[in-house]
Amino acid sequence: MRPVDKTLFLGNQVSYDPYGKAKDHLIEALGDFCSYCERQGVRSALAVEHIEDKDTHPLKKYDWNNFLLSCTNCNSIKARKDITAALLPDRDDTFNIFSYLEGGYIKVNASVNLAVKPKAQALIDLVGLDRIPSRNGYSGTDNLWQGRKKSWELAQRYLIKYQKNECDVETINDLALNNGFWSVWMTVFQNHPEVRQALIDSFPGTNVTYFSE
Ligand SMILES: [Zn+2]
Repeated sequence: MRPVDKTLFLGNQVSYDPYGKAKDHLIEALGDFCSYCERQGVRSALAVEHIEDKDTHPLKKYDWNNFLLSCTNCNSIKARKDITAALLPDRDDTFNIFSYLEGGYIKVNASVNLAVKPKAQALIDLVGLDRIPSRNGYSGTDNLWQGRKKSWELAQRYLIKYQKNECDVETINDLALNNGFWSVWMTVFQNHPEVRQALIDSFPGTNVTYFSE
């Protein structure tokens, strides 16, 4: 999950009432991607997401610091869950804690230290990040897994082309921006720091502090 830094965006207001007015600024700050599952979405498919849910925490209903973007699926799975046990993309390193795998799968990175592991798993559970079609509670209209799998396959095809000098960094970066699933592209191109640097630079609001590129 791409870690983000909303303080990089300077055009925000402190408070948005109604909160839906924050959507365009969030898209400018973070790109048109779900902050959790990383799928790319048109404006109408993305919602202003309240990190701490707005019913339990009414004082944070209009607060820019409490906003991210989410797709309808992540939004409805997260619902009113308590976030305190989970790492979060606007405050933690949410990339290096996970392993993205062939087939569109995700799991907690085996090398993550024991204190952090349950918080990483809590983030997976918070939004059902590892949902696959055979899992209980998985909606047939939710194509997260298929989307991540397709992006993995696309990134693999372009990795081979890139290694043969048949395409450039810009092409890969454009494909990633149009397909979403930033973490998949970062993983597939893990041995190509110049590609990773382009991905870090071009996706708005990426928190650069967790990367050595
Ligand atoms: Zn999502």
